[in-house]
Amino acid sequence: MLTIKRLKELSPYKVYYRDLPWAGCFAYCKETLLQPFIQIDNASPRELRYVTLLHELAHARHYKRNCRCYREDNRALKEFHAERFTFRYLLRYKYTKALKLAYEQTLETWPTYDEDYNKAFRMLEKDKIWKKVQNYLTNHKR
Ligand SMILES: [Zn+2]
Ligand SMILES: [Zn+2]
Repeated sequence: MLTIKRLKELSPYKVYYRDLPWAGCFAYCKETLLQPFIQIDNASPRELRYVTLLHELAHARHYKRNCRCYREDNRALKEFHAERFTFRYLLRYKYTKALKLAYEQTLETWPTYDEDYNKAFRMLEKDKIWKKVQNYLTNHKR
């Protein structure tokens, strides 16, 4: 598992911690600016910061490699891709605690956050990663 420090070093963009004003929004990635950056909310729980940073790094990577989600400027697809990356990563490194947090957070907030997140959530649910995460969490209860 990579530490937050290492994740920050891997980020193509600067990572800032700020007090963000929006409930339920922990971070964003301003990838299209001349000097792109990632902002993470100071108030977000430590374990969730790791998840959040992974999610934002995924956006940055998809932007950099000109993924379809950016070519089509499809917000739902962007969120789906970023979260799928996050789940795959956490599964690969068996980071159970963070995976559980990420899963619960997504399940609780995405379906009702707004239309794009709802769409992204439905894409996630249909993707095989969703079942994999559920199976993993069922087999790794503490
Ligand atoms: Zn993408
Ligand atoms: Zn996102």
